[in-house]
Amino acid sequence: MNRRHFIAGGVSLLALGIAGKAGAFDVFTKKGEGKAKSFPYQLSDVEWKEKLSAEQYRVLRKAGTERSGSSPHDKEKREGVFHCAGCDHPLFATAHKFDSGTGWPSFWQPYNDQSIGISTDYVLVYPRAEEHCANCGGHLGHIFDDGPKPTGKRHCINGVALKFKLT
Ligand SMILES: [Zn+2]
Repeated sequence: MNRRHFIAGGVSLLALGIAGKAGAFDVFTKKGEGKAKSFPYQLSDVEWKEKLSAEQYRVLRKAGTERSGSSPHDKEKREGVFHCAGCDHPLFATAHKFDSGTGWPSFWQPYNDQSIGISTDYVLVYPRAEEHCANCGGHLGHIFDDGPKPTGKRHCINGVALKFKLT
């Protein structure tokens, strides 16, 4: 890598950082890019299976969806932070939680701009904004545009992917 390429890379990373701070959180919006990216926290597939419950593994590592209403986190109202069940990365806070009536824990914004990454999935016929932990890449849920103010976003999250800690 020569110096010119090095500088160009730095500038594009900076641009991504600014986009994230603007509230877009769209670092991984290109199709497939989120899956290809290597994340800071990595375990082998065998290690993930040992660390996680079967349901956590199905959701976090295989992009599964828990049954609506199955997570106690859906009704959680105490002040605290929801961490990634896979790697302990802080993802969401009760302060940004709302009752969406869907049976899945819902938030109008992530804990901070380092919490999550977004890619596009085509599991259903139409593209959806898939949301994952920015630290380990574990699948969390999806983002929709029908959330409350001030962001208008609804982060629809599998509770089994979260670990709650009181603050
Ligand atoms: Zn994680």
